[in-house]
Amino acid sequence: MALIVQKYGGTSVADLERLRNVARRVIQTRQRGHDVVVVVSAMAGHTDRLLELAREAAERPSEREVDVILATGEQITAGLLAIILQDMGFKARSYLGHQVRILTDSLFGRARIKTVDSWRLIKDLREGIIPVVAGFQGVDEEGNITTLGRGGSDTTAVALAVALRADLCEIYTDVDGVYTTDPNVCEKARKLDRISYEEMLEMASLGAKVLQIRSVEFAAKYKVPIHVRSSFSDQEGTIVCEEVEDMEKAVVSGVTYDRNQSRIELVRIPDRPGVAARLFEALSDASIPVDMIIQTSSAEGPYANLAFTVSKADFPRALEITKGIARELGASDVLCEEDVAKVSVVGLGMKSQPGVAFKMFKTLANEGINIKMISTSEIKISCVIDPKYTELAVRALHNAFGLDREQD
Ligand code: ADP
Ligand code: ASP
Ligand code: MG
Repeated sequence: MALIVQKYGGTSVADLERLRNVARRVIQTRQRGHDVVVVVSAMAGHTDRLLELAREAAERPSEREVDVILATGEQITAGLLAIILQDMGFKARSYLGHQVRILTDSLFGRARIKTVDSWRLIKDLREGIIPVVAGFQGVDEEGNITTLGRGGSDTTAVALAVALRADLCEIYTDVDGVYTTDPNVCEKARKLDRISYEEMLEMASLGAKVLQIRSVEFAAKYKVPIHVRSSFSDQEGTIVCEEVEDMEKAVVSGVTYDRNQSRIELVRIPDRPGVAARLFEALSDASIPVDMIIQTSSAEGPYANLAFTVSKADFPRALEITKGIARELGASDVLCEEDVAKVSVVGLGMKSQPGVAFKMFKTLANEGINIKMISTSEIKISCVIDPKYTELAVRALHNAFGLDREQD
């Protein structure tokens, strides 16, 4: 008998019929002799609608209140699933983040989990009750409702799996596993049977939204295996686990994209110590994560250009801060592009293989796609491009690195 945490994403709980399907799966798992704790997302599209509503109410709504509103999406599905399970003759009880006590910091909209109390859930399991937990939300030390960032129900599920010392965390979604790239963009994408935490972490951080990055970090740290699978079929999905010897070490194992990126550039700033530190200190103080950074010194004098990317959600604040610092430093201009895309290739095998970067640049060039920025790590290469070429770039790279599935 195992203890399994099952998380059902937005499309899996999109209406009552799908919630009944979820309930049947939960019951089936129970009937196989396992204990189950369920985590649910809001119905597909609901979080977006709530966010729009908050933004219609005010141009810059308070982040605390936005979280109060967003958390209601998961509250509805948790309550509904508990009712449906009860209606099917099972004992079930819904929980909100603060009722479990998923304690987070106070960074509204992107809070991080600090601790999880699991005793209520364990008590329920002992009494034969199925706990249904609202994903994506927690509570801070002051009792404020917080949310964990988009896609955060994945993180709730893995954090509960860690706290409960569960044997497995199943993530039920609308695709039947992790693919070499987004199967909704590239029809030749191939499903992976297994993927290492390290590669999944890289793919998630580069935009493969099938798992929220924090959930993979938790899983890797506490070595909880994740099974990503579809709630619409019984097919085995993808196991995310530690790297094993026989795991295929493809040079490139996946292609990812992220359309939610913006680029900001400071032109002609003084080329002296402390300048970059001044800018990135201000961005860090505002809790704005910066992704790529490129600085080039000018041959003509003691000047440099400095360009960086941030996520589109942080763009307005990042631009405002950068303009302030640019004035302070005497930069000659601040340029920006609110919409850029980042395409990346990821693979553990890249560590020992030269020529991957060349092949990536050549592939994009053959499609006439201009590269605006480049960044590399041991196991990934990313390029910033015009967003209108995203799908073309993803498909061309997928093909160039031999990832295309044989057509049946
Ligand atoms: P859920 O609502 O179940 O959490 P998400 O929309 O957050 O689902 O994540 C699933 C989606 O992730 C898929 O529909 C797919 O378009 C996208 N996706 C992006 N990259 C990948 C990938 N490499 N493998 C599988 N799915 C991916
Ligand atoms: N409902 C939240 C979102 O849409 C959390 C999640 O689905 O994981 O981002
Ligand atoms: Mg998701």
